[in-house]
Amino acid sequence: MITTDTTTTLLKKHFGFDSFRPNQEAIINDLLSGKDLLAIMPTGGGKSLCFQLPALMLSGTAIVISPLIALMKDQVDALHANGIPAAFYNSSQSIDTQNEVLQNLREQNIKLLYVAPESLNFLLPHLNENNVSLFAIDEAHCISAWGHDFRPAYTQLGKLKKQFPNIPVAAFTATADVATQDDIVKQLHIPKAQKHLASFDRKNLYLEVRPGTNRLPQILRFLRNRKEESGIIYCLSRRSTETLAEKLVANGFQAQAYHAGLDTEERSRIQEDFVNDRTPIIVATIAFGMGIDKSNVRWVIHYNMPKNIEGYYQEIGRSGRDSLPAQTLLFYSFADVVKLRQFIEESPNREFQLAKLERMQQFAEALSCRRVALLNYFGEHISEDCGNCDNCKTPPQFFDGTVLTQKVCSAVYRLSENEPVGMLVDVLRGSKNAQLYEKGYQNIKTYGTAKDIPWLDLQQYIIQMVNQGILEIRFHEKGRLLLTPLAKKILFEGRKVKLASLQTKEKPALKERVEKPETFGLFEKLRQLRREISIEENVAAYIVFSDASLKDME
Ligand code: ADP
Ligand code: MG
Ligand code: ZN
Repeated sequence: MITTDTTTTLLKKHFGFDSFRPNQEAIINDLLSGKDLLAIMPTGGGKSLCFQLPALMLSGTAIVISPLIALMKDQVDALHANGIPAAFYNSSQSIDTQNEVLQNLREQNIKLLYVAPESLNFLLPHLNENNVSLFAIDEAHCISAWGHDFRPAYTQLGKLKKQFPNIPVAAFTATADVATQDDIVKQLHIPKAQKHLASFDRKNLYLEVRPGTNRLPQILRFLRNRKEESGIIYCLSRRSTETLAEKLVANGFQAQAYHAGLDTEERSRIQEDFVNDRTPIIVATIAFGMGIDKSNVRWVIHYNMPKNIEGYYQEIGRSGRDSLPAQTLLFYSFADVVKLRQFIEESPNREFQLAKLERMQQFAEALSCRRVALLNYFGEHISEDCGNCDNCKTPPQFFDGTVLTQKVCSAVYRLSENEPVGMLVDVLRGSKNAQLYEKGYQNIKTYGTAKDIPWLDLQQYIIQMVNQGILEIRFHEKGRLLLTPLAKKILFEGRKVKLASLQTKEKPALKERVEKPETFGLFEKLRQLRREISIEENVAAYIVFSDASLKDME
């Protein structure tokens, strides 16, 4: 094992840094001892260094798979500036240049070689177990169709481990939900990969979700005391960015619309005005934000709901980079769900995207701590509620849901962790449906033990358990439910569970919420609609309601 002294000395010598960021040292040590690994670290967390430093220490050349040809050159230039011999290999180069790179590889003149996945096949014949030190796969979520940015060329990376079983393979990404994490490991054939999961928690971001009705007045109220602060409002369509920006200007705010339809010059002007505090408010499509380095964004509003939690997380993450408090506000409406579903219908991996949208909805409808729900999605479990989200600040009426949760968990176990929410509800309610009987589920011990809870309420309680990280939905495997380690604590170690009561109306503790009728009343209404939508899957019927909630956009 290489000593800490050596790695910190090299860190200082080659990169000029005094200490490691979280997880860097552990990842480096794993690579130095030849282990495969999967590292999930936020953007800017310092992933590159995790493979660059071991590359210097090991014999041979580190092969780095990187999706963007444009970024490859920057990375190699930066390495050269630090005196590290490196090169890249891709289709933008002439044959002569490519041959020169291969020559350098043969003569072992370079410590790192960046390659595009599409060009890997040309490189493979020149690689062997003696001249390669490690494989680093950047943006590894691109290998999975369940990820949010699938790249077919990545799928062939599975052959690396087969062809070079003794060379460590290290996968890096900034966002991958639990299902995608598992898929990366599977597709790369690195079942024993060490997992390094950096914290996704951004404690300084206040998380809030409101029903998406009367959004404009709500936004004006939100902005009243924030005239000087920088913030971003994300909309779904180009047109709505323009309409909303105009309305804000008409109300005395300084706002600019930004979307991919504007010409390059105008886009960079708007961006610069924002970065330099000349325009405080940007109303944008998701085209805005990538690569923008502004630390004092104080708030992010989602006028429309994003299509998955990865997108939501990335977009709210653009606020509060200076670690000072920042506000995030998501408007949740069925109009958006309907529209997003329509978009998704036309996409190639429709099924996964619909499931991800469903998870986004479940997050928006969470009744307990939002941060717990958000972090659980990425596989990170925190034990305490955060105190910095709408649900922590104004909690709904909770009851001791331990017994119900135990029943649910034990049913999940008896169903061999192999059934989706619908079947689970049927079993617990003692349904007589034919499919259930065919499978013999009427004989299991928990059959009918939650008869007294209405179907939709029981479904909603189970979703709360998902949001609390007690159960996990494998949406890519027909939505089957699994028990998490937390479930085992509840079943066997007497851990208690709080669930938000759905029969809240008569309960006294609700007073607080009733005083904010627009919040509570609409959530009830949304939940009602949600129920209908999930039962009938008949989207058309809800367009009437959708249009009403969109009115302020016309
Ligand atoms: P990622 O790929 O995870 O988004 P990068 O590897 O591009 O992040 O690193 C982001 C920035 O952090 C870079 O400017 C890098 O030089 C810097 N950095 C990385 N490790 C350290 C460290 N240990 N100390 C200080 N800065 C670091
Ligand atoms: Mg990176
Ligand atoms: Zn919270």
